Amino acid sequence: MAAPLARNVVKDLAAEHGACLRPVQLRRTEIDTGYVEQVLIPCGHTLASVCPPCAERARILRATQCREGWHLDQEPVIDPDPATEQQKALITDRAEAQEGRDLLASAGLDVGELDERIGELDEEITEAGMRGSVLPARPRRHRSTRRRQDTAPLPRRPVSARTIGKTYTAPDGKTFRPSLFVTLTCPSYGQVGEDGTPVDPDGYDYQQAARDALHFAALFDRFIQNLRRFVGYDLQYFAAIEPQKRLAPHIHLAIRGTIARTELRGVIAATYHQVWWPSTETVRYDGGCLPVWDEHTGTYLDPGTGEVLPTWDQALDSIGDQDEPLHVARFGARFDAQGVLAGSRDASRCIGYLTKYLTKQLGDCHQATTDAQAAHAARLADALRYEPCSPTCANWLRYGIQPKNPRPGLIPGACKGKAHHREYLGYAGRRVLVSRKWSGKTLADHRADRQNWLTSTLGLPATDPARYTWEAVKPGDPDHMPNGQRLLHVVADRIQWQTALEMARRRAAEADLSATGSAA
Ligand SMILES: [Zn+2]
Ligand SMILES: [Zn+2]
Repeated sequence: MAAPLARNVVKDLAAEHGACLRPVQLRRTEIDTGYVEQVLIPCGHTLASVCPPCAERARILRATQCREGWHLDQEPVIDPDPATEQQKALITDRAEAQEGRDLLASAGLDVGELDERIGELDEEITEAGMRGSVLPARPRRHRSTRRRQDTAPLPRRPVSARTIGKTYTAPDGKTFRPSLFVTLTCPSYGQVGEDGTPVDPDGYDYQQAARDALHFAALFDRFIQNLRRFVGYDLQYFAAIEPQKRLAPHIHLAIRGTIARTELRGVIAATYHQVWWPSTETVRYDGGCLPVWDEHTGTYLDPGTGEVLPTWDQALDSIGDQDEPLHVARFGARFDAQGVLAGSRDASRCIGYLTKYLTKQLGDCHQATTDAQAAHAARLADALRYEPCSPTCANWLRYGIQPKNPRPGLIPGACKGKAHHREYLGYAGRRVLVSRKWSGKTLADHRADRQNWLTSTLGLPATDPARYTWEAVKPGDPDHMPNGQRLLHVVADRIQWQTALEMARRRAAEADLSATGSAA
């Protein structure tokens, strides 16, 4: 029994060499010759609980992206690719459909069919790799001035297109372009101990904690908006969201350029996000007595009276001028900010913080090891259970309101939204938020950089993707390889590669040495 299981040794060896543990098998056919090859590609999962080597590669890629954008001293150039023939053809179709639709509409005829066609074309346009849409989004619902987001009491400057920070010149003529590392936290919900659990669990404001987590992303958006208006340029950031020990989200940001602490404090204090949603003060339906779905009208009815529940729009409209927002999210007064210089040890340490937890689910970053911690996590999960996560949340039925876009089968307390799941701690948004002009590259561009470096170091010929067709190999296909066999292949490939890379590096080093040798 002490002898290692051969299968596990393969797995360990794969992990040791950074090979994917769940490689995906593709069948690659060369179009000209019909030559078929089996290609194994990494699963690319970002969670270490699923595939540690892929998750680590994804983390390192994020670190590269963070590093490349942080101290840029030239504006990133973002030149969109020219449109392809297929993309142009789609836009032509879309233009014709629009013209036809508008003609029918002006004659007072039915436009349903053409609207449907337009919807399909818009989807195809996105699928064809074009950003944005041809028309601006439909105007939002009219809202009374009282309900609009109040603007922060801050000086507002016009936002210029500049994205890089200022330089400073020292007396000795040396120039510096400092950047910033900032950590923003949520406010206090009650005093917590060293282990992150409340000193007084009954006095801890779990509802506030739950709502702040649910609206954290919107609050952060508002903060960036305010900050850009305040500094007057198109400030860029790379941000990572992770939980504190008390299980409230906080956010680390690398900011290009620098801002004085007092100014930052002012913007944080003036930033808030109001949630104008219907009130959840009164529980109207609970337990076995829940609204029933009416197939005929596509609405939810009161189980006793058969009355139609107010729709989402009706509920929004009935929010009166005297009403308060359902929630106001703010950051806590405590924040951290430090200036960081390009290439310094501090910069590397901060990038380490920014990417540290990216391979874990939020809820797995701090595993409960004591009863108190488990109880704290359970109380937060309870608070999140009936809190509406979005306008379409099933929980609105509990408060007597039809969720937006209602559909059958909605049960309050059993919303499928990720925010309610334990592992998300109320925050279901993206873990890394990167502004568009950070490094001027997408994650795919950074990945391509890596691949190009590798192929050029190894002296491999570049392959033209247009020469092949690709298909997924399914179980049951005659050429399907079981996972164990795939693993053996990736381990062998990986070791071969690493040896080749090592040799290429040694050759490069020797070439360098002989070059300096001849110069000396
Ligand atoms: Zn993998
Ligand atoms: Zn929900």
